[in-house]
Amino acid sequence: MRFSDDFLNDLRSKIDIEELIARYTEVRGRGRTPVCLCPFHNEKTPSFVIYKDNQSYYCFGCGAGGDAITFIRNIENLDYTEAVRYLCERTGTPFPTDPIDDELTKRRRRCYEANREAARFFNAQLSLPHAQAAREYLHQRGLKRETVVRFGLGYAPDSWDSLIKHLRTKGYTDNELILYDLARRTAKGGCIDAFRNRLMFPIFDLRGNVIAFGGRVLDDSKPKYLNTSDTVVYKKSQALYALNFAKNGNNNRLILCEGYMDVISLHQAGFTQAVAGLGTAFTPEQAKLLSRYCEELLVCFDSDEAGVKAAQRARKILSDTDVKLRVVRMTGGKDPDEIIKKFGPERMREILEGAVNETEFALQNAKSKFDTETSDGKVGYLNEAVLILAAIPNAVKRDIYITQLSAELQVAKAAVEIQVTKAAKRNNRKEEKAVFEHAVKNLRGENDHSPNPDKKRYTKAVKAEEFLLAALICNPVYLKKFEDRLSADIFLTDYNKRIYTLITEKMKQHISIMPSSFVDELDESGIAYISMLLALEEQIGETERAFSDYLNVLAAEKKKAMQPASSSLSDADFLARIADCRKTDGGGT
Ligand SMILES: [Zn+2]
Repeated sequence: MRFSDDFLNDLRSKIDIEELIARYTEVRGRGRTPVCLCPFHNEKTPSFVIYKDNQSYYCFGCGAGGDAITFIRNIENLDYTEAVRYLCERTGTPFPTDPIDDELTKRRRRCYEANREAARFFNAQLSLPHAQAAREYLHQRGLKRETVVRFGLGYAPDSWDSLIKHLRTKGYTDNELILYDLARRTAKGGCIDAFRNRLMFPIFDLRGNVIAFGGRVLDDSKPKYLNTSDTVVYKKSQALYALNFAKNGNNNRLILCEGYMDVISLHQAGFTQAVAGLGTAFTPEQAKLLSRYCEELLVCFDSDEAGVKAAQRARKILSDTDVKLRVVRMTGGKDPDEIIKKFGPERMREILEGAVNETEFALQNAKSKFDTETSDGKVGYLNEAVLILAAIPNAVKRDIYITQLSAELQVAKAAVEIQVTKAAKRNNRKEEKAVFEHAVKNLRGENDHSPNPDKKRYTKAVKAEEFLLAALICNPVYLKKFEDRLSADIFLTDYNKRIYTLITEKMKQHISIMPSSFVDELDESGIAYISMLLALEEQIGETERAFSDYLNVLAAEKKKAMQPASSSLSDADFLARIADCRKTDGGGT
């Protein structure tokens, strides 16, 4: 949906960005540029800056940036139109009734519809004769009919193009299907179904739209699971399988497992708070999402080394949220599915109730590696345990474990204490150093999230380009004043050339330069880049002299960058240069 500039300006004028952001994270500091801990990435020192003058924000830590609309889009996981509607409701602004449809919203809607149609198709295939193997698999895994219906499971036939053919009759083009990752382009330029001969698990968003699929093989072929790649409606790092069902439970607890089948088994057995990641390691975005729906997370990973590592990773990521982590120790089976099948739901409930906190889990795990009956084993376990205890920030908690450990191993408590304190100091120093280095990098502008692919190659020129663009945004009169020296061609990097063109086009149409003025032309990183330019305003000399200096620096840098490539020299220059080389070589051969 497209909105008029007047409407957007009116909407923006009713929003105080600081107040808006303060609803999600504590804003520190006052004045024109307050700071806060970034709500989009986990951090201990604030790198998220709010620019009240132009009502935008930029995070120097992760590169997130934009204005009120972008902020709501990202934090509430909405599309552009939905974010505008959200802000309209909050500010009592009437939502425009006759808008021109926005291209992106249209594309997203098409994608939802195609996915829903595909899910229906896969589901219908499941009852046809050729899905015998898929049905047997479901039966053998003990899935009931209503479970299959609830999760919308289906079957992708063993054919190259049955889904493509079906969706063509519904009006979708091959190109669309490739964009939605329902089809793949072959080397010869043809088009084949992305999922073939697989059991299909549709993935839903929180509103129940089908946003992607996971497909499992029915034999031993590889890969065992195939998942939709990121599309206009799906980012796998930001989604969780079955959260649409699990979020409705009301005991503030979620269970995080490894795979689709674990989740489905748990739900069928009555544990409807189960969710799973989607073929990626646990991400900070997923942690944020979970923290909105639970206070306690039971991590239910496989009981092997990889599962332990994954649990540790989850703890790290969750450490900046309020979510309490407990680790489920699988006994009698490798995963929830196996345990429920072998022993029934009661046993699973006991295991879940017996979930330990992550310190206990890590200690148990360390202990299992050693024979603590021998003194070598004792020392080995103690060394690992000390590292685990040193990582506990709470002194009282730490003391409790030290007491337990010394009693368990029959070692003097003081001795354990000394070791733990030493290790904790080492940890602190490491952490302080990391925080310090991060801060220094921020100051130097080295935490780089630039979408400009040439930034590393032409550091100085890019810097001049960015200052030029930023100065131009805050002084649109320069466009006229420096008319004879300004054009897209003065830019060295293609990226900034494009940004310059976009900005000047908007200026000529008297559209204000705000991050979300560019939703049609730029992706998320591009929009954040615009906010970065707006943020630069703080550092810009406001004089025309400074502007002229940026122009000179850029011209000089561009000339330098063009020189060494001999192919760009004219024939005469090229010959002259060869002659020069001969002279310095002392006449050559
Ligand atoms: Zn950030």
